[in-house]
Amino acid sequence: MAKDRDRKIEKNPDHESMIQELINGGFEHIEKEIRQCANCSLHEGATNPVIMKGSRDPKVLFIGEAPGKTEDMTGIPFSGRAGKKLDEMIEYMDLSDKDYAVINVLKCRPPNNRKPRKTEVEQCKPFLMAQIEFLDPKVIILLGNTADEAFWGRKNMQWGVPVVDEDGRNILKIYHPAAMIYQRSRIEEQKELIDKNRNLWE
Ligand code: URA
Repeated sequence: MAKDRDRKIEKNPDHESMIQELINGGFEHIEKEIRQCANCSLHEGATNPVIMKGSRDPKVLFIGEAPGKTEDMTGIPFSGRAGKKLDEMIEYMDLSDKDYAVINVLKCRPPNNRKPRKTEVEQCKPFLMAQIEFLDPKVIILLGNTADEAFWGRKNMQWGVPVVDEDGRNILKIYHPAAMIYQRSRIEEQKELIDKNRNLWE
């Protein structure tokens, strides 16, 4: 465990006030603002914004990248193929439904599942940070590099090596569940990363 608490570099004053306003409004307000958001062009091609699934009082919060085709249709994060892999991971972690929630960095699907652009991440970030504050998890699990970069404002973490952030939360980066589909050797590696860190949520 890193001794020093890691700071998120982003302290955009506009973001700070927007995040506070979102949190003050409560969960339904955050959800409504996401549904009405037109800050970037992704909403134009989105069928549904994808907000969250799981407990509103989670011990563990998983953060993915962005909705894919299935998620865009259902409005539910990780409801497609990568979601099956995430479910398997969650079972392996011995978490029950009340223990966790799942959100994404971006709420709207990028066309053809391309990587989120920096500007899109930046514009969506107040929603991400407000969701984290509101859900107030003990542990945040960043699923892959996009979540790492979005959360810290830069790529910050090593795979499977937890740090404590300035709010006192344990932050861990593991592989994105889609990696389990395309690189099967990652399955065993992912299990090792999970096994090494069970103490964080058990
Ligand atoms: N990949 C993600 O990062 N999020 C989803 O919701 C689905 C696939």
